[in-house]
Amino acid sequence: MKIFEFVRPADAQAASAAAALASTAQQDADVRFIAGGTTLIDLMKLNVETPARVLDINRLPLDKIESTPDGGLRIGATVRNSDLANHPTVRRDYPVLSQALLNGASAQLRNMATTAGNLLQRTRCMYFRDTAMPCNKRAPGTGCPAIAGANRTLAVLGTSEHCIASNPSDMCVAMAALEATIHVQGPKASRTIPFADFHLLPGNTPHRETVLEPGDLITQVELPAPIQGSKQLYLKLRDRASYEFALASAAVVISVASGKVTHVRLALGGVGAKPWRSQEAEAALIGQPADPANFRKASEAAMRDAKPQSQNGFKIELAKRCLTHALQMAVAS
Ligand SMILES: Cc1cc2nc3c(=O)[nH]c(=O)nc-3n(C[C@H](O)[C@H](O)[C@H](O)COP(=O)(O)OP(=O)(O)OC[C@H]3O[C@@H](n4cnc5c(N)ncnc54)[C@H](O)[C@@H]3O)c2cc1C
Ligand code: SF4
Repeated sequence: MKIFEFVRPADAQAASAAAALASTAQQDADVRFIAGGTTLIDLMKLNVETPARVLDINRLPLDKIESTPDGGLRIGATVRNSDLANHPTVRRDYPVLSQALLNGASAQLRNMATTAGNLLQRTRCMYFRDTAMPCNKRAPGTGCPAIAGANRTLAVLGTSEHCIASNPSDMCVAMAALEATIHVQGPKASRTIPFADFHLLPGNTPHRETVLEPGDLITQVELPAPIQGSKQLYLKLRDRASYEFALASAAVVISVASGKVTHVRLALGGVGAKPWRSQEAEAALIGQPADPANFRKASEAAMRDAKPQSQNGFKIELAKRCLTHALQMAVAS
């Protein structure tokens, strides 16, 4: 790990101003915020991240979970994953988020990991984490060895010829289905970003993962008011029962009246280059009878554009079964 300067900004504006001096907020940023450190420190030890300045945001007043006047919930950037998962309002009104968080990492990691840090966790692609290997995401223009190499855990949706990395977050899958909004303090002004617009697809710039610019500090994530009477569920399929990333996962928010689907939001994890909201699957279900045949049709629609690589073709059927089963479990709950 190279020598770096460690700074504690006094407030969000000072943090944003200090980070605005960076040349980028993407891969190779020379200034980084640190929250729980469970992604950043790992990558610094591997020399994948080499910031010259690290800005500690843990003392900023961003650790609250508060109700909003319109019945939603505002979650501070430094709220720990374990606190968020176990918050009574989250457990009652947003169980899909609580379940997704509790399916992630380990208890120790969840006690450190924060809301904003989870939004920005990096891919687990093995080539990205090994500086002896080429990788377009880490070192643009060097190539993507995963395409002809170890790609069993990587993405089948939203990939490009330059990068097939999967987004590893569980929390983000639930937030995509809940249609969260991300609040950002920039160097000149604050702004909000709809969750669907926050992460970028790799295209020919896989080193650009989000729309964040230098100086952008995530301050809160806001959830809209829960859909009254909706059923919610997060289902994660992985190689072992804990402490493992998803091969495929599904977040479901669904309402059914008189046997028909009246509201549905669906997102997939483990299979997409970003947390994967499937409006195709939602469109296939809305107004239809809530039965296994239609759940399977929706799952087929979700994976219609999937592109398998040499080792991860199994994920397509796995994701379909995951979503079908999650829908069945949600409506039966
Ligand atoms: C062994 C292991 C297993 C794991 N398993 C899972 C799993 O199964 N599922 C899962 O979802 N996750 C898993 N994780 C990932 C874990 O959830 C993330 O490491 C964690 O959420 C990151 O949060 P953090 O606060 O520690 O982030 P940090 O490491 O502090 O920061 C991560 C990134 O976010 C940036 N950042 C942090 N806060 C802000 C802010 N407010 N504004 C702008 N930028 C910010 C940092 O600069 C950095 O680039 C695992 C991690 C490990 C190490
Ligand atoms: S899949 Fe993406 S992260 Fe992995 S080696 Fe290829 S470019 Fe790098």
